[in-house]
Amino acid sequence: MNTYDLIVIGTGPGGEKAAVKAAYFGFKVAIVEKEKVFGGAQVVTGTIPSKTLKETALFLSGKYEKGLFGVDRDLKHEASVEDFMFRKNYVSDYAAKEIKKNLVRHGVDIYLGEASFEDAHTIHIKDESGSKIYGKYIIIATGSYPYQPKNIPFDGNRIHDSDTILQITRFPSSICIVGAGVIGCEYATIFGTMGTKVYLINDKEKILPFIDKEVSTHLVENMQNEDIEILFNTSIESIKAPQTDKDLIEIKINNGKTINVDMFLFAAGRSGNTKALQLDKIGVVQGKRETIVVDKQYRTNIDNIYAVGDVIGFPALASTSMDQGRAAVAHIFQTKDLENLPQFFPYGIYTIPEVSMVGMTEEDAKANNIDYLIGKARYADMARGQIMGAKSGFLKLVFRKEDLKIIGVHIIGNIASEMIHFGLELVESGQNLYSVIGKVFNFPTLHELYKYAAYDGLSNLCGHKIKP
Ligand SMILES: Cc1cc2nc3c(=O)[nH]c(=O)nc-3n(C[C@H](O)[C@H](O)[C@H](O)COP(=O)(O)OP(=O)(O)OC[C@H]3O[C@@H](n4cnc5c(N)ncnc54)[C@H](O)[C@@H]3O)c2cc1C
Repeated sequence: MNTYDLIVIGTGPGGEKAAVKAAYFGFKVAIVEKEKVFGGAQVVTGTIPSKTLKETALFLSGKYEKGLFGVDRDLKHEASVEDFMFRKNYVSDYAAKEIKKNLVRHGVDIYLGEASFEDAHTIHIKDESGSKIYGKYIIIATGSYPYQPKNIPFDGNRIHDSDTILQITRFPSSICIVGAGVIGCEYATIFGTMGTKVYLINDKEKILPFIDKEVSTHLVENMQNEDIEILFNTSIESIKAPQTDKDLIEIKINNGKTINVDMFLFAAGRSGNTKALQLDKIGVVQGKRETIVVDKQYRTNIDNIYAVGDVIGFPALASTSMDQGRAAVAHIFQTKDLENLPQFFPYGIYTIPEVSMVGMTEEDAKANNIDYLIGKARYADMARGQIMGAKSGFLKLVFRKEDLKIIGVHIIGNIASEMIHFGLELVESGQNLYSVIGKVFNFPTLHELYKYAAYDGLSNLCGHKIKP
């Protein structure tokens, strides 16, 4: 039996980064992957595909330049689903190959097949020869799968979850999406931009409940302008699968209404990918929705077994999964380069328009009895915003009144998920409005939003408008 310092299960962002880092530090590493294509949800069913579709939708619909040059380049009705999927397939294929190359380059041994535990150190691989490998340490990075409620007749053709939606072979004329979380909202704006009539069913009074309310409201306005109909405080009662290709899907809502649509997407909730691992054999403690319980060092209740990424639950992001993998390796092999993930991390929501945030929302500040104020700047008021043709979008700073310390940054608008990293630095290092005002930015850039939001904050503090 081959013996390793570390066995990693899963080649998603958590697994890849853990395996490569351990190998980089000179340890003997194996990785096991059950799928032919490497990269997990990041590459195959989640992050990269949906982000590429967002950019494609913007391009094909002509939204990048719409109105800018006096020409409306409205291609969306001419574009085929093949056009729509072309770049997604290209980018995902490239990313999957790069992951494999990276593992090979670092000398990580690759095993193809489904992994399960024989005991706390032995992994059985369901391949032609039923290989077994021994690992001093094991990291589980098996990710998550979309939750499928039993009352929904998923068929992968017209009634989808967030995995199968990527396999559509034609554009829906209309779609009903259940779940106004990140995935539901992203797909709602992608399809809306491509000209599909979208119904978004949301069981709460706010979409994306964790983001700042003002940002959420602004996003709702933008979505409604794209003919996306959001049904708040509603849920579905039943869904009737179509009998023929020509029939519509009949969806009964709990407000008494019925909607008939061409396609359906359920995008509410995911569960940990742990069934195949046979964790009960070794007594690994599990949490809700098939997740694995870990401590701050990503160690399970079994000393030599760690778990990272979606399989441990919140925050279930590619970005955090990567660093959890690296942090687990740092603890296992005492590499002393990464103790824990930082307290603050940004959220990027790739809706159209994009949303990104770090730190406290206004609602968080209120709930924590913080005496706070805000400062805001609009994209349309910046020279770069004008050049780009921005009509909506803003950046908002939430700061403490007592010392002007910035405790939250919220952005909605073009490249918000890029723009947030300066905000991350401000919040993380506890800087105040004056540290923003004291910086010179390139001109014209969207980073000016920070400066004008800081001046607006000072205006709100002294009660009269300062004209910077
Ligand atoms: C539609 C969508 C959009 C998203 N957008 C973003 C985004 O914009 N930004 C962001 O940061 N995150 C985003 N995410 C989340 C991100 O994709 C996940 O958080 C991330 O991929 C989790 O990484 P992971 O390594 O934990 O697991 P995964 O990426 O799920 O990888 C797990 C791997 O383990 C393999 N595996 C599972 N079980 C076994 C087994 N028993 N044996 C062998 N192999 C096994 C799987 O085949 C898979 O390759 C999105 C997710 C979705 C679904």
